[in-house]
Parts: sequence; C-alpha cells; structure tokens
Amino acid sequence: MQTQIPVDLLKTAHGQTADKILRSCVHCGFCLSACPTYGLLGDELDSPRGRIYLIKQALEGGEVTANSLTHLDRCLTCRSCETTCPSGVEYAHLLDIGREFIEAKSPRPRLQQFIRWGLRKTLTTPFLFNTLTTLWPWAKHSTVNKPLQTLVRQAKAHTHVKQVLLISGCVQPALAPNINLATIHVLHKLGIGVIETPQVQCCGAVEHHLSGSEDALKK
Ligand code: SF4
Ligand code: SF4
Repeated sequence: MQTQIPVDLLKTAHGQTADKILRSCVHCGFCLSACPTYGLLGDELDSPRGRIYLIKQALEGGEVTANSLTHLDRCLTCRSCETTCPSGVEYAHLLDIGREFIEAKSPRPRLQQFIRWGLRKTLTTPFLFNTLTTLWPWAKHSTVNKPLQTLVRQAKAHTHVKQVLLISGCVQPALAPNINLATIHVLHKLGIGVIETPQVQCCGAVEHHLSGSEDALKK
C-alpha cells in the first residue's frame, strides 16, 4: 500500500522499517481468517489488516486515541497472520513499532501504567512470582509429572554429542513445569542433550511486550 509517513519520521530507523513493512501489505485480507481476535470479535480493527491501518494512520500523523491502543493491546502477538500472508508482511515487527509510537502519543492512564509496570516486574522475577502463586489460592498451576521427571533424570545421565542450551523462562517453571521436562525428554529421544542455564532467567519478552523495550534490552 502507499504510505505518507512524514519525512522526519522516515529519517529514523523505526520509521524506515515501518514504511517498508506497510508498503509490503497489499490489503488482500487473507490474514483475517487466521486471526483469533478477529474470529472472536468480528471487528476489522481487531484484525491484522485493521491494526496495520491503525498503525499507518498514526505514523502518518492521523488521530491517535486510547481506542487505537486498545485494538493493538488486544492483539495476542501470536503471529498466526504472518503464516497466511502471501506478501510476507512482518506484522509483529510493525506492531512493536506501532505500539510504542501510539503509546507515546496517547499515554495510558496512570493506574494502567502502574499495573503494567507491576506485571513486568512480578512476572520477570521468579522468586516473587513463585511466592505469589503459592500464596494466591486461585492460582492454577500444574504439578510436576513424576514419571516424566524420572525419565528426565535418567535422560540427564546420558552424554550426547549434540547439546542445546535451554533457558527455563520466568513464569513457565512455576505455572507449567512439565513443558520444560517434556522438551528435555523429546530432545533426549532425538539424541540431543540439554544444558540448563539457571543464571539466565529472562529473555526480555515480557518487558518488551508491555512497553518496556528499554528494560527488555538490559535483560
Ligand atoms: S498483512 Fe498480508 S494477508 Fe494481511 S492484508 Fe496485508 S498483505 Fe494481505
Ligand atoms: S498476531 Fe495479532 S493480528 Fe496476528 S493473528 Fe495473532 S492476534 Fe491476530
């Protein structure tokens, strides 16, 4: 599609990237059928194409409202739309740029900012998150599958030529510990050993997707 992004913005790296991505979209709408939020809500603005238009409008200097941010917030960043796009539109990358740009133009209410900050800090601090999920009676976390744990213990006794590093993650070990165990088990069956790296806890994704890109880069 054609774009009319202001020259000042086009001089920035984000402006150039967004412009390139926007121009690759031919607004065919193939992506709509792959989008869970569009499937659920049936609103074009909650579809990939609608969000692309919202971001384009914002970058071109159009009106930005709290509503624009709501439609972007509802995106799960599942990237399902990218798999069906015939033009190879890098939607998720554009969304990151768009969210940051729109949030700067239309700041969130202070309470919302505080809640999001709290989520970023809690989810990325395993000790804090584990303690809270233990204390919180409604927290639904799966318990460790003992037979799987035994299989993994046996797998770890083997030495494989091929090895991969596994970052256990921030939230997953507390909420769904069997995912990492199952991963280790499957890799072992494929002849690949796993080196766990407990000292590396955070990849920065939570910070990044909750408008904390600067903190994410420090992770
Ligand atoms: S993102 Fe891809 S599939 Fe969706 S409207 Fe644009 S070109 Fe079509
Ligand atoms: S990344 Fe967002 S827009 Fe794309 S399919 Fe998932 S929810 Fe829909």
